[in-house]
Amino acid sequence: MEKRNGLRVILFPLPLQGCINPMLQLANILHSRGFSITVIHTRFNAPRSSSHPLFTFLQIPDGLSETQINDDPTSNVMSLLAQINRNAESPFRDCLQNLLLQSQESERISCLIDDCGWLFTQSVAESLNLPRIVLCTFKATFLNAYPILPLLRTQGYLPDSDSKAGDSVLEFPPLQKRDLSRVFGENGEKLDPFVHAIVDTTMRSSGIIFMSCEELEKDSLALANEIFKVPIFAIGPFHSYFSASSSSLFTQDETCIPWLDKQEDKSVIYVSLGSVVNITESEFLEIACGLSNSKQPFLWVVRPGLVLGAQWIEPLSEGLVRSLEEKGKIVKWAPQQEVLAHRAIGGFLTHNGWNSTLESICEGVPMICLPGGWDQMLNSRFVSDVWRVGIHLEGRIERKEIEKAVRILMVESEGERIRERMKVLKEEVGRSVKHGGSSFRSIETLANHILSL
Ligand code: UDP
Repeated sequence: MEKRNGLRVILFPLPLQGCINPMLQLANILHSRGFSITVIHTRFNAPRSSSHPLFTFLQIPDGLSETQINDDPTSNVMSLLAQINRNAESPFRDCLQNLLLQSQESERISCLIDDCGWLFTQSVAESLNLPRIVLCTFKATFLNAYPILPLLRTQGYLPDSDSKAGDSVLEFPPLQKRDLSRVFGENGEKLDPFVHAIVDTTMRSSGIIFMSCEELEKDSLALANEIFKVPIFAIGPFHSYFSASSSSLFTQDETCIPWLDKQEDKSVIYVSLGSVVNITESEFLEIACGLSNSKQPFLWVVRPGLVLGAQWIEPLSEGLVRSLEEKGKIVKWAPQQEVLAHRAIGGFLTHNGWNSTLESICEGVPMICLPGGWDQMLNSRFVSDVWRVGIHLEGRIERKEIEKAVRILMVESEGERIRERMKVLKEEVGRSVKHGGSSFRSIETLANHILSL
């Protein structure tokens, strides 16, 4: 183990799977550089401390009721974030203040690192004279658009007419006009104060850590430095250093792996829409029929709660389940990183959360893009239009479209060309985390920055 350097870093993840994974991976990266780690977390979606014996975990109340937690508050992420941002400030302040009071000369607390989605932490840190570094768990290109997001909503791009739907949003390439309404969702105006607060607090911070690398977005990283005027550290993909498995909030179905062992190389399409996206029952049926009709083997993660109004897969008829089971396997949660790395996986039908997108690139798995909203709209455009390593479904959750996309990707020559491009991208990104690569060097710079605070 790396020698301790006498400094402790306080981490505070947002309580969402896609935010907890990168924060705990970052904790591992910093720990391997000699920093001691304390993780402050909410009661809701508390990380499993027993999986991380080297870190200290401190739980604070989040004000959510039992009923809310049982009803899965992530089904409305905006309202969840607003609520915990309101409720957690005071307990967080008390907790941090206590830690600072108790800290010893022999192990000084050097800084707070927390998710850019926390709105109160910058003020709390400033009032306690503690530097704060922001962790951005999405693509830098998306954070760069935050200052103009409210303008884009009101500048006449919405509602989009069909004939203009495919036009680029000039201020926000490669996004298309049709993507904008799904970036904002139904009550876009409610996002404005949230977005403004993130821009303001990030500009006052002591730096931004991106789960990204120069090979993927060199210009956007340089632009982030210009916009936010703070040091930028692009040290990702984090999971290349430490797996996300240990921070999983759900029980992973390990039977996926022996099932994959029995399949041919690159024959299986992996299907998962992440930890937050919801779909309707009819969309669920379309996906099921599309997969079944494609005649390709598939591994499908149906998270309990994925389908609105259903517990799990009960909207599928017995006959359909039987026909699905001939070719595929349905699980509640998978060891995704291990699955994507398996030789049998040939494609990933994904919602393009940033973690999933990076994990797919790092394993060289081409994608079928079915983004749900927010930054997923941008990630999927990069996958399909810029890097050209995937097929975009353009929101058409229809059995014929799904069957067609699966067959193009898995059996046709176009799929082979996409796979070739993905191989090149995988190698480029892989270089960034190797000794001397851009992300590897940024970790060094970040460690020195924290030491200097
Ligand atoms: N994940 C997993 N098993 C699953 C589905 C997802 O371990 O069955 C992990 C995945 O590897 C990723 C995270 O959950 O690290 C999802 O993050 P992402 O940013 O892709 O999407 P979100 O859930 O935030 O929408």
